[in-house]
Amino acid sequence: MVRNPLTPIEISRISPRHEDDHQTRDQNRKAPVKSNPVVAIAGVTGAVGAEFIATMDKRAFRVGKLKALASARSAGKTIDFRGQRVMIEELNESSFEGVDIALFSAGGSISRKFTPIAVKAGAVVVDNSSAFRMDPNVPLVIPEINADRIGDHKGIIAVPNCAAITVLVPLWPIHRRNRIKRVILSTYQAASGAGAAAMQELVESTRACLNGQAFQPKAMPHPYAFNLFNHNTAIDLATGYNDEETKVIRETRKIFEDDSIAVGVTCVRVPVLRAHCAAITFECENPMTEDEVRAILSDAPGVKIVDDRVRNYFPMPIDASGQDDVLVGRIRQDLSDPSGHSISIFAAADQLLKGAALNAIQIAELLP
Ligand code: NAP
Repeated sequence: MVRNPLTPIEISRISPRHEDDHQTRDQNRKAPVKSNPVVAIAGVTGAVGAEFIATMDKRAFRVGKLKALASARSAGKTIDFRGQRVMIEELNESSFEGVDIALFSAGGSISRKFTPIAVKAGAVVVDNSSAFRMDPNVPLVIPEINADRIGDHKGIIAVPNCAAITVLVPLWPIHRRNRIKRVILSTYQAASGAGAAAMQELVESTRACLNGQAFQPKAMPHPYAFNLFNHNTAIDLATGYNDEETKVIRETRKIFEDDSIAVGVTCVRVPVLRAHCAAITFECENPMTEDEVRAILSDAPGVKIVDDRVRNYFPMPIDASGQDDVLVGRIRQDLSDPSGHSISIFAAADQLLKGAALNAIQIAELLP
């Protein structure tokens, strides 16, 4: 049976890393969140917004009241939430009165403008955009890696880049055992990573292509059907790196709290609707065998090994879609490094879930 890549979800286990240093950060903590919080979703009509709704349902996330926020284009429409119709309101300066938790997923400029307003109104913000990720006052959290940093927040907690999450969830447990000095990776990123309009463009341009019709790209910079291209973020003319690549490099260092880790990355958009993939080669401080990696990952939170050489069955977007784990396979020694310090793997994860909505809800569940 072929799975529909657009259908949702399930969960993962969590093991924070700094269990011992909570006390020193207590003075920074905001008041605890209510047990039945008023939750606002900014960007509720988007690709991630839809997964917030599905993930809250799936995980029975406690919500006293839901505020559904989007642009003026959507105001007055409704969404279904737990059997109720919730009216979508236009996001504005007074949207966060009485809100306890605000989940932001409406783009960086909206986050930059409205998260300070939400925090001032008393909400804790979990932000999916890149606006605050590198702010030293904002924890950048993947709960399987640094859940303990949630308590450091001063009103905003950032969800990392979705490609970074796909790569770092499996690398972290290895890094803990045998420090990773260097990572080289290439991503294969799905249309949904660029939002609902990009998904629609992939479907429509593929249909047009099959029907022999011309198609003018709007959401993407290049023809998407039967094609792939450099990630559609801006390229730095001096370095040649696109923004997505820069995010992966910087966020890896911030989350691992290791400025010396060397990261080489190439980010590519592929004609897949949902779930990002990454081919990853990493070099450890000490020798590492593929069996050691397999053993570590078999017990790693948020990771599922899919590594069947006999059946040629490895992580695929279609299997990663709608479930919570990062699928990892192709676990093998990197033959270009005869010293035995380097391993190659292939990972796939649903970036709308673990790369965005699920990671955010996991954070919200752990709010003090
Ligand atoms: P999307 O499908 O394009 O949805 C954008 C959402 O933002 C819609 O709900 C839209 O509302 C709302 N919005 C746009 N302009 C607005 C405005 N002026 N005021 C209020 N709401 C506005 O995008 P997405 O993929 O869900 O991504 C949303 C955010 O999550 C982005 O910051 C993105 O970088 C981040 N993110 C996305 C992914 C992913 O896999 N897609 C992963 C990680 C992080 P209308 O429908 O009313 O226009």
